[in-house]
Amino acid sequence: MSQILDGRALARDLRVQIKREVKAMVAAGGPRPKLAVILAGEDPASAVYVRNKEKMAARVGIDAVTLRLPADVPAAALMAEIDRLNADPSVHGILLQLPLPQGISAEEEIALLERVDPRKDVDGFHPDNLGLLMAGRPRFVACTPQGCMRLLEAGGVPLAGRQAVVIGRSLIVGKPIAQLLLAADATVTICHSRTQALAEIVRQADIVIAAVGRPGLVGGDWIKPGAAVIDVGVNSVEGALVGDVDFEAAASRAGWITPVPGGVGPMTIACLLENTRQAALRARPAP
Ligand code: NAD
Repeated sequence: MSQILDGRALARDLRVQIKREVKAMVAAGGPRPKLAVILAGEDPASAVYVRNKEKMAARVGIDAVTLRLPADVPAAALMAEIDRLNADPSVHGILLQLPLPQGISAEEEIALLERVDPRKDVDGFHPDNLGLLMAGRPRFVACTPQGCMRLLEAGGVPLAGRQAVVIGRSLIVGKPIAQLLLAADATVTICHSRTQALAEIVRQADIVIAAVGRPGLVGGDWIKPGAAVIDVGVNSVEGALVGDVDFEAAASRAGWITPVPGGVGPMTIACLLENTRQAALRARPAP
């Protein structure tokens, strides 16, 4: 039976550490970290995520403010909000909650993400931050990939020289996690919607990262005995949350596996808090 990589417990430990460090920073006369979240529209899942972020921020002594904007907000108004937050020295981290409302085009979304001051980009989605990661000098690492790496590390999963297979090539999960695994000396294969013979590739993997958003995509018999399986997928099936991996079957073969829920999800929020603390630490003092 595999070792469960418990994201709830690990996130709790990380929050305890962040709370201690925030307290020490404020006691030493430093700023209290402040996160600004822009939430446009009424996507129910986003509303839950944002509430969780506010709740967790408060627990560690980080101020979190959420700007709630209507679903028909024009891109120009979002741009203006980002500019205002960029210029506000009391704000250390800015997060534009995705997905944006349907009225915002893909091009506008890219422009908005690029408008966030890269030194306040606690999501790590700005091209400057993605580029620094690629260059081996990471500044803000995207929260979900960072959470995956912390889970692997906590489980003591060996990475150097091992075969890692990442399923999914998005800019916010698949590509950055592949980069982090590469930096940890794994041999990395990235698979995606056009990959052929996915099962055969996954069967070679010592580390499997599933980040697609399709329930049951990864069959239990795809898992090499003893492999580490990180399930990033979040899917709602008949009212229940499930990942991309057939958990029961995979758990009977894997060496390590993350549950859904309770695996990557809690780590994503904890890493956001850590990025916000780091942003405050690096912020130039207000003139
Ligand atoms: P995305 O839609 O941007 O990317 C999905 C990727 O899957 C694409 O690169 C696509 O090429 C690939 N893909 C699609 N069908 C495939 C197939 N049949 N075989 C192989 N690859 C296929 O999604 P995303 O934003 O990267 O998120 C992926 C999943 O992770 C979603 O379920 C999302 O909800 C979840 N997610 C979870 C967290 C968390 O904190 N737990 C954070 C971010 C995303």
